[in-house]
Amino acid sequence: MAKQWVAIDGPAGSGKSSVSKQAARELHWGYLDTGAAYRALTWANQNLPGFGLDDLVELDLATAFDYSISVDPNHYWVHVGEVDVTEAIREASVAEGVSLVARIPEVRAFMKQLTRALVEECPAPGIIVEGRDITTVVLPDAQTRLLLTASEEVRLERRSAELGLANNQQVARQVSQRDASDAKVVDFMTPADGVTLIDSSNLNFAQTVAAVLETIAKATPKDH
Ligand code: C5P
Repeated sequence: MAKQWVAIDGPAGSGKSSVSKQAARELHWGYLDTGAAYRALTWANQNLPGFGLDDLVELDLATAFDYSISVDPNHYWVHVGEVDVTEAIREASVAEGVSLVARIPEVRAFMKQLTRALVEECPAPGIIVEGRDITTVVLPDAQTRLLLTASEEVRLERRSAELGLANNQQVARQVSQRDASDAKVVDFMTPADGVTLIDSSNLNFAQTVAAVLETIAKATPKDH
């Protein structure tokens, strides 16, 4: 079981996925992308029978949703049953539908359990877990809790570069709409008590990773 827990929250395009992954590589720790489970469930909602929005409220997701994800920062994959959905969950259709799935309270309760189980099963000495409500709801007991932000302008630039789009109007619309609907459910723009804020607007990638590693190094170990 991973003993050192690092929780990182932030909005879309804050760089939290790539920064968390790189920090985990440098520490030889696990890395868990919690957004992938919301995306994979949205993929199931859009592609599999029995996963309609109403069904998601009723289903026992722990048995019905056969989800697995790699926590190795050097080898990332996401599966639903036998299907490798690693690429499919990055499609625009999934990004457009995910907030609707993520606002269902029963889904959020399931995701909390799922995330904590994955953290506990992680064989590495530590794990970096990134998402929207990790510092506040899922792992409020993590040794290190960080909120990674960046100005809206910088986030849009990073997002469009990531998606390889020259015209970023569409990206701008998507990112702001998704942040706005997500923010109605969880506040990931202001740090909760005890959460360290890292604003990466004026930091490059390496500097942001260094700031995260520095915060982790300062944390007092806890016994989980
Ligand atoms: O991080 P990513 O952009 O992949 O997250 C996809 C979506 O999953 C978010 O827009 C949000 O709706 C949801 N999410 C969440 N809580 C988390 C992680 C993701 O609600 N901890």
